[in-house]
Formats: sequence, C-alpha cells, structure tokens
Amino acid sequence: MALLDTADAMPGHRWVLAGCLLLLVSLFAMLVASTQLRPEEQRAVEVVGDDAADRFGEAARTVRLRFDLPPTERSQGRWALWFPREPVVGLHLTRADGWRSEIRDFFRVGDDEGMFPNGYGFVLPADWQGPVQLDVRYEGMLQANIAPVLARAGDVRRIERSGVALSAALYGALLALATLALALAYASRDRLFLGFFGVVFALVLLLQAANGHLYGLPAGRLFGYWGVQGMAALALLYAAATQWLIEAYAMPRLHRWSRATRTITAALVLLAAVCLLNLDAVAPLAWPLTVLGWTVSGLASLAMLFDATHRGVRLAGWVLAAAAVAVVGGLWMALVRLGLTTDIALLHFAYQGALVALVFGLGLALISRIGDYRDQRDRDRLARLDTERKMRRESARANLTTALQTQLNGLDPGELPWQGFRLLMDHLLPLVPHESCVAVLRGYQGRDHLLVEPADALPAIEHEIQRRGLILRRQATAGIALQQPVQASAGGPVVAMEALVPLQIRAPGWAVLLLRRAGGDGFTTEEISVIGELLRLVQLQVDQAATAVKLRRSAEIDALTGTMNRRTIDLWVERTFVDAERTGRPVSVLFVDLDHFKSVNDRYGHACGDDCLRAVSLALRSVLSEADMFGRYGGEEFIAVLPGHDGAEARAIGERMRTAVENVEMRHEGQRVRLTVSIGIATRQPGEDAPAAAVARADKALYAAKRQGRNCVQVAPAIFS
Ligand code: GH3
Ligand code: MG
Ligand code: MG
Repeated sequence: MALLDTADAMPGHRWVLAGCLLLLVSLFAMLVASTQLRPEEQRAVEVVGDDAADRFGEAARTVRLRFDLPPTERSQGRWALWFPREPVVGLHLTRADGWRSEIRDFFRVGDDEGMFPNGYGFVLPADWQGPVQLDVRYEGMLQANIAPVLARAGDVRRIERSGVALSAALYGALLALATLALALAYASRDRLFLGFFGVVFALVLLLQAANGHLYGLPAGRLFGYWGVQGMAALALLYAAATQWLIEAYAMPRLHRWSRATRTITAALVLLAAVCLLNLDAVAPLAWPLTVLGWTVSGLASLAMLFDATHRGVRLAGWVLAAAAVAVVGGLWMALVRLGLTTDIALLHFAYQGALVALVFGLGLALISRIGDYRDQRDRDRLARLDTERKMRRESARANLTTALQTQLNGLDPGELPWQGFRLLMDHLLPLVPHESCVAVLRGYQGRDHLLVEPADALPAIEHEIQRRGLILRRQATAGIALQQPVQASAGGPVVAMEALVPLQIRAPGWAVLLLRRAGGDGFTTEEISVIGELLRLVQLQVDQAATAVKLRRSAEIDALTGTMNRRTIDLWVERTFVDAERTGRPVSVLFVDLDHFKSVNDRYGHACGDDCLRAVSLALRSVLSEADMFGRYGGEEFIAVLPGHDGAEARAIGERMRTAVENVEMRHEGQRVRLTVSIGIATRQPGEDAPAAAVARADKALYAAKRQGRNCVQVAPAIFS
C-alpha cells in the first residue's frame, strides 16, 4: 500500500498503524458507550400502541406508555422520561388526569435544552408513584424510535452531557479538519482542498441538522423552516460533494465514469434544490429520494475507490474501507428512518463516526498527495534550472570566445594574458557570483601579471599574494582546483571562501585564478568546473593569439637582423607610394650594399660575416627616424624608404648612414674588421604610384656608387639614360 511506502523508516509499521487505529476506535466506542444508561439504572417502560398508519405521510401519532414508579426518597431525585432526539415535532406527554408536559420540537430547540441536546427529557412530578399510564403525542414524517428510557433525572442529565461532549468532539474534529483544509488550499493552491473544505463543511451541517443541533444555533434556527426537507437537502449536498471529491481524488481511468458520476452529482444537487423549495407535495418523497441518492452516489464512490485501489492510488484502500463503513452505516440509518429496518441503539453515533472517519481518510489521502505534487514540482524545477544553467554556461562560453577572438587580435603577445583575463573576469561574474577575483600569472607568455577585480583591492592583494607566494605557487603547480576558507587573521574567523583554480602552463611559469565569496558560502562543484572551463578557454585563446602573432612576425621579419624582410618592405613601399601620390609628398628609396663583403666572409668566416650584417643593420637603422622604413633586402643588401624626404635630404641621410657604418667597431680575433657601404638613392617622380621604377633607379645609382670606388652615396638623376 502506498502509505506504507512512505513509512518504510518505521519497522512493523502495519501493526503500529493498525494499533493506533484500534486505539482511536475504542476511544470513540467508549465515548459512545458513555451516552447510554446501564440496564440497572433504567426501569422498564411498556410501549402499548403506535397508531402510525401512514409511515411516509405527515401524521399525528399517539403512543401509550405504561410503567411502574417505585416509592422514592427525596435524596434519590425525581424520575425522568428520556426520548432519543428524533426528527419529530410537537412531542409531549399527557395523562388522563389532565397533566401535560411541555412540548418538545426537533426543529426548534428550547432555550432550556442547552447547546447540543441529545434527546427529549421530561422530569416527572415528584409525587407520582405506582403504575403510571402516559400518552406520548407527536408528529413526524420519519419513522421515529420513540421508545423512551425511564431513569433518575440525574442519570438522564449524565447521558445528556455525554452526548453533548461526544457531539462537540465530532464537530470540533470536523471544524479543525475544515480549517486544515483551508490552510492546505492556501498552501497548495489546489482547488481539491477547497472541495475538501466543502465536504467537511457540508458534513458538519448535515450532522448538526440530523442531530437536531443546527436549530439551536442563532443562524441555524432559521434552517428549521425547511424541516425534514432541509435535512434531506443537506444529506444530498453532502453526498454530491463527497462523490465529486472522491472522483477528483481517485481519478477514474475510464472516461465514461466521469460522465456518469457527473450526472449523479448534478442529479443530487438538483434534488437538494427541489427539497429547498419546501413544497408540501414533495415532503413525503424527500427522504425516500435522499436514500436513493445516497445509495447511487455511495455505490459510485465505492466503485471509483475500488478501481483506484486496483490502480495503486495512494491510500485508496483505506479510504475505500472508511467509505464502505460510512455508506453502509448511512444507508442503515436512512432505512431505519423509513421504518424498513430496526434500530440499533449504538448506530446513532456509530454512523456519524464512520462519516467522520471517511472524511478524515479522504483528507489524509489528499494530504499525502501534496508530497507527490511537491516531488513532481521539484523535479520539474530542478530540470528547468539545470537547462537554464547549461544554457547560461553555453552562452557565457560563446560570448567569451567571441570577445576573446575580437579583442585579442593584433595585441602584443605580452599584453595578451592581461586582456584575456580581464575578459574572463567580466564574463565570470554573472555566472559565478563573487566578491573579488584575482589572477596571478607568473611567466605566462613571458611576463608576470597580477589582475585584481575590483581594482581598488590591488594594494592589499599584492601584499597578500607576496605573503602567500610559495604556498600559492605549490598549489598552482599541483594543478588541482580547490576551495579553502579565508581567515581575517591567522586563527581568526572565516570571512570568505576562496576558490583556487590553477592554470596548466609550462614550468617554471605558473598561474592561478582566485575567486572569493564573502561569508561561509562555498562554491559548488559545478561553479568550480565552470571557472576551470572558462579558464581553459581563455588560455587556449591567449596561446593561439600569441602563436598567431609569432607566426605573423616570422613572416614579416628578417631572422638575422630583426628588421623587416623583403616581402614586408615591398608591401610597405607600395603603400607609401600610393599615399605619396595622393598627398604629393616626396619619397626617397635608398639601396645599401656592403662593399667587398665576399672577402669579409672569406677572411673571417661566415659567422663573423653574420655579426657584421647585424652590426651594420643596427648602425644603418640608428640614423633613421620612426617614420622611416628599413629592412634587409637580401644577402648583404639593405633598403630604406624615407617618406617626406626629397633627393637632397635623402642624400644627407645616406651620407650619415655611410659614415655610421664606417664607424662600426667590428673586431675579429683582435683585428678590426673594416666595413663600408655604397648607397644608391632614387626619389619618387610625380605620377609614380608604384615603386618599381624608383627601386630600379636606386639600384642603378648603387651600381654607379660601386663603380665610383665604393664607400660613397649616389643619387639617381630623374631619368637614367
Ligand atoms: P661588392 O658588393 O662590393 O661588389 O662586393 P661583394 O663582395 O659584396 O660582392 P657580392 O655582392 O657579389 O657578394 C655578396 C656576398 O655577400 C656573397 C656572400 O658571401 C655574402 N653574403 C650574402 N648573404 C650573406 C649572409 O647572409 N651572411 C654572410 N656571412 N654573408 C653573406
Ligand atoms: Mg656587396
Ligand atoms: Mg650584393
């Protein structure tokens, strides 16, 4: 049984539950028993005649009672006749000598009858003794068990009070249940609990009406107007409400069921409405129709619960058992009222107990379903949160990748880590909330960096990192992400949690990201893994960008001298010439060639030759400004492009270059290596937007310089012949 699934933690729970149930039932039985007189407390009453000719019609009836009153002493109290409270009106006793009792009325509770009267009590005159004969007169539409009890007034008062206590306990329990139903409706926002409240409330009204207590309440007094038909209406409404709730609870599988049960519910409500019209013609039919309604709806409810039990609906078996008892008890009671079966004294409260038990069972079953809803809702929410988290993580990844690709582009390799980690911090904050973030990068891409967010914490952090230096380095090189508490001072209270995520970089470099969260809130495994993932992403992009920069440089730069290579110079010269054509500014091209360099190689070796090339390149470059371009054109030839300089200026600069090389102090094994260059210069002619002609002229001028004896500068004329 489903209830027992939830009670697995309790060993032998079946027996424990059964024991508790038995305890409740026996307590209730003891309470019921206290409403009955013991045989020795009663005296026999002979009921002589019952002339109720028409059982279902409204008819006045007279019953003759005969009994014997023994002589009593004053201290024993007076005798009293007590009738169970049945739905009759105008109940009174008369004696042949003209004595008349007060008139009791089911639908009109007298002020002297107290809160929840359980019967009609008549205290007999003190002077009556010996055989007594009384006539009981009353009118009642329903078969009433008017067999009275004759006992001392004190004993009668005692069972009256017990009845009051029992009724109060039943109503109290139901009202508590109704309040609970409202609380549950509020908490679960499930209309099922509002329906449950309706059922409990209808049951309270029904029981109060059936016991005759409703009519003693200030507002309920008005309800007495409907008499038996009012009781019938309440009984029908209760049946309708219960059946609706059972259907909602049991959720029958077959669709046609709900159609049938809905029809029954509607019919019950319709019948109740007809009863409330209070038509005289309907009056005799009201109770038989109610019995019919209860039978049909009771059977439908039992069938639905039976089906639900088979389908393993939680607690359905228990509700079915309670419902079966309630239906049988209720029907029995209704049949008694119709005079079709005989009354059992204890049944009066027993069927009420069964109805309350059914409602409690239903309530318990409904409450147990809250756990199901919550589990379902929790599962849904967790799944949704999981998806959202994954999506956020994915989009953060994508955004960071895009940001890295666009913003790392064209940066100096040394600046790449700084920029990359700045972007990482920006993207990490919404994903992994934290108070501060520190990136400690040592020897990463050849440089050290310390990034701190927020920036104003930098001085304090710098100091702290220095203090933690060695340990931090060990933790970083261990390569394991972890989190550790941060103390305000050694041995002091924990002020934050710190996530430490290392970066795998080549030794001796090391790098680590430190995230801090104030208070005792740690980072989840998920968060640490997100940090690690984004960290690896940044590292990958930074490394890629650095490699790309190096590759690009190696394609642009001459490996030996570190100046531009020919390819780059060609590109630059072309661009300069296009610009110059647009602006009309002069451009000069200088060709530089080392003199007799072959013999330098021959004499001192190639290694020395390379050193000479480097020294010459430095000397040449030192003469030029930032705006000028300079590079190795090939072999031992260099080229310089001077934007904004005409031939005369270029000659002056060339002359300085020549001197600079002449002054290069180059030594090989103690001997000075003498180095000189010849320089050919050409200036862009108007209309020249491509450098080819100017370069050719400069080349020719260089040859002219060589022919002239080397170590000199030659400017090409505008047009070579
Ligand atoms: P000149 O230009 O004065 O007519 O005489 P030269 O000896 O310099 O003649 P040439 O330009 O024909 O010779 C170039 C020499 O430069 C040939 C080669 O040995 C040397 N050379 C070219 N590239 C390199 C280099 O990368 N390293 C070294 N060490 N020597 C180079
Ligand atoms: Mg040469
Ligand atoms: Mg040469």
